[in-house]
Amino acid sequence: MTIPKTQKAVFFEENGDLDVIKYDDVLVPEIGEGDVLIKNRYAGLNYIETYFRTGLYPIEKPHILGREATGEIVKVGSKVDNLKVGEKVGYLSTATFAQYTRFPATGNILRLPSDASDEKLKLVAGALLQGLTALTFIYEAYDVQRNDYILVTAAAGGVGLLLCQLLSKLKKAHVIAYASTDEKLKLAQEAGAEYLINSSNTTHEQQVEKILDITGGKGVAASFDSVGRDTAELSLAVIGRKGTFVSFGNASGPVPPLQLSRLTAKNLKVVRPTLYGYITEHEEFEKYTKQLFHLIDSGELKIYISRTYPLEKYVDAAREFEGRKTIGKLVFEIPQ
Ligand code: NDP
Repeated sequence: MTIPKTQKAVFFEENGDLDVIKYDDVLVPEIGEGDVLIKNRYAGLNYIETYFRTGLYPIEKPHILGREATGEIVKVGSKVDNLKVGEKVGYLSTATFAQYTRFPATGNILRLPSDASDEKLKLVAGALLQGLTALTFIYEAYDVQRNDYILVTAAAGGVGLLLCQLLSKLKKAHVIAYASTDEKLKLAQEAGAEYLINSSNTTHEQQVEKILDITGGKGVAASFDSVGRDTAELSLAVIGRKGTFVSFGNASGPVPPLQLSRLTAKNLKVVRPTLYGYITEHEEFEKYTKQLFHLIDSGELKIYISRTYPLEKYVDAAREFEGRKTIGKLVFEIPQ
């Protein structure tokens, strides 16, 4: 196939609100001798794009957004012998909100059957990053035990619905879901949450009381807290003795500096993990992707892709997402 010189991509050149986003022509990347060029088909939306755009996570600019995709290899470097043109793949990388992405052949890449359907490519693009996050965190950030009580914030979000399912079905834990609407909580319940807390119509004190009540006064074994600033105090208040605060996101803003002495009264542990630190080695990536897709293929884990947008509608999708209007996962269809 002929590879064009330019392509459509979603990028920004300065930090700011959504009005800094551009959907325009950029150069198709040149590949090095050890790289492959992937023609993308679907790419998943993740909250990290917001942190890059706003400047919370500094990054070199111009920056093409996107952290995961599926597609087909259309070119390989002269020293690449493990991947071939025509292979279908799923992968985690920057710059996937574009028609073509350069990727190192030695990187973590999921090979898909050559006859993988578009539906399968969409599913993988919607499952990879958030699925691996939920799966690695429940073993590695805190190894959840049977019958543990676990608090999950943003429980109807992309990662949240996966946590609810994995914690309840795989780990046999009791999930306390925390979300801003009854509609979201209903979904979390369908995904396995046993207890529901609506953050919009309860006070901090009521939330603490309810969680202590649910746990017989003991508090939760861990809080998987992706909301950050707005929920950190709740997490610290309801995690029980020897419990773990898994702080893994900043949807409401970063967690303010925490005095270590606040951990003493309950012998708490705090972890602030990133997915990439759990799948750095090939063996780790392979182990967890194999487990993830076994769970998905066997029907044990459902990927809630709530909406698919054409890539050019990125700003509309991000506005809904950042405005807390979405549930589950959002995926982009890349123009071919
Ligand atoms: P979600 O689908 O969960 O969307 C974010 C949700 O956060 C919203 O729907 C909303 O749910 C909640 N929220 C609470 N306060 C705010 C606020 N002020 N503004 C916006 N949203 C708010 O997103 P993802 O599943 O993509 O990601 C969830 C979190 O996990 C993010 O913080 C992300 O950064 C983090 N993450 C971290 C990873 C890591 O490696 N550390 C990897 C992947 C994700 P509600 O209305 O119910 O409160």
